[in-house]
Amino acid sequence: MFSTMQDVPLTVARILEHGASFHGRATVTTWDGEGPRVRTFAEVGARAAQLAHALRDELGVTPDRLVGTLMWNNADHLEAYLAVPSMGSVLHTLNLRLPAAQLAFIVNHAADHAIVVSGSVLPLLAGVLDQLAPTLRHIVVSGPGDLSLLAGFAGGVHEYEALIAGRPTEYPWQDELDERSPAMICYTSGTTGDPKGVVYSHRSIYLHCLQVNSAATFGLTQQDTALPVVPMFHVGAWGIPHAAFMSGANLLMPDRFLQPQPLAAMIERVRPTVSAAVPTIWNGLLDELDHPTGREQAYDVSSLRQVVIGGSACPPALMRAFQERHGIRVVHAWGMTETSPLGTFGLPPAGLDEEREWEYRAMQGVFPASVQARLSGPNGERMPHDGVAAGELEVRGPWIAGAYYGGAGQEPERPEDKFTEDGWLRTGDVGTITPDGFLTLTDRAKDVIKSGGEWISSVELENHLMAHPEVAEAAVVAVPDEKWGERPLATVVLRPGAAVDLRGLRAFLAGRVAAWQLPERWALIPAVPKTSVGKFDKKVIREWHKSGKLT
Ligand code: ADP
Repeated sequence: MFSTMQDVPLTVARILEHGASFHGRATVTTWDGEGPRVRTFAEVGARAAQLAHALRDELGVTPDRLVGTLMWNNADHLEAYLAVPSMGSVLHTLNLRLPAAQLAFIVNHAADHAIVVSGSVLPLLAGVLDQLAPTLRHIVVSGPGDLSLLAGFAGGVHEYEALIAGRPTEYPWQDELDERSPAMICYTSGTTGDPKGVVYSHRSIYLHCLQVNSAATFGLTQQDTALPVVPMFHVGAWGIPHAAFMSGANLLMPDRFLQPQPLAAMIERVRPTVSAAVPTIWNGLLDELDHPTGREQAYDVSSLRQVVIGGSACPPALMRAFQERHGIRVVHAWGMTETSPLGTFGLPPAGLDEEREWEYRAMQGVFPASVQARLSGPNGERMPHDGVAAGELEVRGPWIAGAYYGGAGQEPERPEDKFTEDGWLRTGDVGTITPDGFLTLTDRAKDVIKSGGEWISSVELENHLMAHPEVAEAAVVAVPDEKWGERPLATVVLRPGAAVDLRGLRAFLAGRVAAWQLPERWALIPAVPKTSVGKFDKKVIREWHKSGKLT
């Protein structure tokens, strides 16, 4: 027997055609510092076609060639997001906060044929030009920028607007492509070792978009305006740009204005309904909302129906503060580059009393049907989903990586520490799963503090510390200890004018965690070091400790 259904490939081209036609009136607004610049989806679709013509006819971008983007979140970037995969080529998003050597590494490893770069980050690209392989043939500059910085580049230099001007506004998009063919590549931020390339397919992007648009997650519809603060250079801004084009949700793009004050201003002015970012961003925004800089009246952020926090553990105190002081519902989500990234989403079940609901919301969230999950114990044994037994999280699904890009002409890589023999992704995250499918992460495997045969969760200690009103940030790391193997070291950033001292913080923590979990080692620091995607960089703190920089 055969199914009687049509076999239609799931492609980015379909998303582009649908968004540009039926949702042609929807808008993408880019913040330019002064205010908003607006383009409709119909215009974005037409300009994407012009870009595709230019890439193919003038820059020689064939299906086997990659186009890199080194750009902020803005309308031009969205055009590349849609055009490059839909013409059958592969889009490579470049993280503009990577250290120079890693940036050069990923451009060369992916063998990018062309790079579209925001004018404001030209100095960054210019600074690595001498490390780039000759496979890079063209640089396209979007927005104002100092082109003379590229004088040493042997290939072609183009201005985005001049390049696309006058070209046809329709393109024979490849919506009959094999849905399993590559559409985008995103490298992990390389917290340990060289970055690794995860290659998303048309099918994985399409299915992931459906999940982003599901009411169980972001729930984007044409009644929404989505503000992706998460960068488009890291895990596709969590799928929001493509998902918005699919659902007709308007987009508000913050470009390079990611500081609390412009974010608050653009929220008030453009009135997004949904937003997403890592906790660091929301922490800063909360301060600005609590104490607006240079103005008397509070910001009007009432348009936001949901704010999604993920990328690192969201301190429950932060969620409560947003809800209680500003009426904004915060939802916790977990994911990684290898999971596209939606892995879990933290909408609690119905019918809970308030305290129980907060307990659920502090968890990382529930797995959708498309993401299978299991826990692996210290000896590789399956751990029960009882909300208590902890193990390393392993996942499987249609938008989960099964390998890393091996380089041009090479086989994909499946390192043993990242993929199980039966093909599941080892996430490197340690946690528990409740019988109703809610994940709680206690730590990254490499951050867990192994003290005398017991595990101490650094995240739990941090969450308690960050609930103290005078603490701005806290990061806890494992440090070697002769007697216990490892013990926690708590590093704390106090709010300006705080009166509490470390002794007081220890007493505060003592009431909240078991005595054996209490750190003996403490240090005040001016700021927690952050990775290229704004997460706590505990590697740096461990190095500070090792070199005696913390007292
Ligand atoms: P990198 O691994 O390079 O930092 P990713 O963005 O892929 O970049 O990071 C994924 C990791 O971030 C996860 O494996 C997990 O450790 C952490 N993470 C993501 N979301 C959460 C969350 N809600 N709570 C705790 N940790 C999270």
